[in-house]
Amino acid sequence: MGKKIMQDVNFHSMSEQQDLKPKPTTAETPDGVSGQGFFATSLEKAVGLARKNSLWPLPFATSCCGIEFMATMASHYDLARFGSERLSFSPRQSDLLMVMGTVAKKMGPVLREVYIQMAEPKWVMAVGACAASGGIFDTYSVLQGIDRVIPVDVYVPGCPPRPEQIIDGIIKIQELAGNESLRRRNSKEYEELMKQYNIE
Ligand code: SF4
Repeated sequence: MGKKIMQDVNFHSMSEQQDLKPKPTTAETPDGVSGQGFFATSLEKAVGLARKNSLWPLPFATSCCGIEFMATMASHYDLARFGSERLSFSPRQSDLLMVMGTVAKKMGPVLREVYIQMAEPKWVMAVGACAASGGIFDTYSVLQGIDRVIPVDVYVPGCPPRPEQIIDGIIKIQELAGNESLRRRNSKEYEELMKQYNIE
């Protein structure tokens, strides 16, 4: 099988092989006004651009979905292409909480504490069926979805989700971060959302 793939690659011409090389990814320019030697945009868009391309994930991995995340970080899928290669196990230095795996009810308060310790602005991704809904573990001991204890921004379905799906979730979070109003975290709606979870 490996030999067959090598043969196929060798079959391509030099120019075709160059096309097959991964292209360097660059952040797209936000809307704005440009002229000779200058570009102007709003502060909100500039901050959104920086935030979306430098998400620092905190991997809260408790079981098998965490293994898919390892594959997502590794060279083949390479999450670094999205500016998210800097994992943090310190809540204060991360802004994306990725919950991957089964969360027991006893673990709920720990997860909540980690979320509270994260500085604003912060986003949450529930990766896989277990984090989103308890998955197949409809039992007395398993939390039936992490949104019972913390607010969730993006749900990634699957048991386990493929790395492509996790990347799709990251892109959705990037869209939220890039388009979020700078005033959202001080808004009445956000305050009410936090109140629902008893978070000051
Ligand atoms: S969703 Fe499936 S793969 Fe992911 S932690 Fe639950 S049982 Fe494991």
